[in-house]
Amino acid sequence: MEQTESKVETTVFERVVSRFNIAAEKLGLDDGIYQVLLTPDREIGLAIPVQMDNARLKVFQAYRVQHNLARGPSYGGIRYAPDVTLDQIRALAVWMTWKCAVVKIPFGGAQGGIVCDPKTLSRTELEKITRRYTASLIDTLGPERDVAGPDITTDEKVMAWIMDTYSMHVRHTVTAVVTGKSLALGGTVGWREATGRGCKIVCDRALTRFNMKPENTRVIIQGFGNVGSMAARILHESGYLVVGASDITGGIYDPWGIDVTQLIAHAEEAKTVVGFPDTDAISGAELLQQPCEILLPAATENQITIHNADKIKARIICEGADEPTAPEADEILYDKRIFIIPDLLANSGGVTVSYFEWVQDRQGYFWNLKTVNDRLEEIMLNSFDTVASYADRHGVDMRIAAYMLAIDRVAYATRARGIYA
Ligand code: NAD
Repeated sequence: MEQTESKVETTVFERVVSRFNIAAEKLGLDDGIYQVLLTPDREIGLAIPVQMDNARLKVFQAYRVQHNLARGPSYGGIRYAPDVTLDQIRALAVWMTWKCAVVKIPFGGAQGGIVCDPKTLSRTELEKITRRYTASLIDTLGPERDVAGPDITTDEKVMAWIMDTYSMHVRHTVTAVVTGKSLALGGTVGWREATGRGCKIVCDRALTRFNMKPENTRVIIQGFGNVGSMAARILHESGYLVVGASDITGGIYDPWGIDVTQLIAHAEEAKTVVGFPDTDAISGAELLQQPCEILLPAATENQITIHNADKIKARIICEGADEPTAPEADEILYDKRIFIIPDLLANSGGVTVSYFEWVQDRQGYFWNLKTVNDRLEEIMLNSFDTVASYADRHGVDMRIAAYMLAIDRVAYATRARGIYA
């Protein structure tokens, strides 16, 4: 059992490193900077003792990894899941550094995690775990040091507990220590749909590049959670033809287009996209292989692999999910001339609007939805154009260009600051 787990752990980090290595080689990164950029600044392991509802004590293992602080304070989610491991948290922290650098927001990457199964915990137990975790990290977190955000199974309620605990310790209210808060506590408008909206913005830019029109663009969306359903809704509202969608339970397909507003209502009610009237039922795996112009994976990692990459018929893949494409599949897709808008760029709308939340909290002045969406659009379009011209200039695909750009920016900041000894 332990052996299997450690193999999986290594693989998560290895995937991050394998693409980093390709980009680092193309950039001619020297060994010293290579080591600095791949080694996390700080890795903290914590024991979180909690008195459970049955009065027994239980200890939860927890982590916070700050990968790189060269371009600003670190930022990253906190995940509560039974399969959290230090290796996975480290990989996510490294990855967040590149994501922030691609969209040029002044954060480095971090990630936190607690090994627990929130489904089996009461609200009181979750609150105790969260508050103790925050108190243990009181010298680590902070708006100018390390900003936390939600991730798998952590939500605005968890963010409120972190904000409150931190504020109690420092004796004044500090909203900017976390993002993803409710509006009442210093959250921002536009946050919930930011990742999906970001996907739509980069799809628009890709269409311009290929002289395509939304009304002739069929979209298939894998995963119908926050990212998938929001992207589907905004694409649909912008005239794209959403012809297929899937979730963990299965998929639906209609080559003439699906009414996404009604599909969202159906999915909310039925807890599945399956059974949506006047569509064909299709397996999730088959759906990926249907003809379309844009395939938008928004479910989990490793969905496009060497086993199905050659069967994909899309012209463009917009990676809403993190790491939906296995590194070995990249070459197959490249040979098929499929244009990939890589995850580092495509799903960075979420972290960008989290940054907007931090900015607004620190200003104490809140923007309206139009301002948030306009500034998101400006950043996403600039980032797309910079990655695309980097790709053209260096003769690499969009993914490697995104990595190169990010690594170049962090390496530049590291060199510009110099190494303090
Ligand atoms: P979510 O939990 O809200 O939704 C995930 C969806 O994927 C669900 O509909 C689920 O049923 C479906 N799914 C899971 N496995 C599937 C499979 N094998 N086939 C088809 N559907 C499957 O999650 P989310 O917040 O929408 O995140 C989705 C992905 O996007 C994740 O990789 C996440 O890391 C990434 N991401 C999310 C955000 C964000 O703002 N939420 C930001 C950046 C990246």
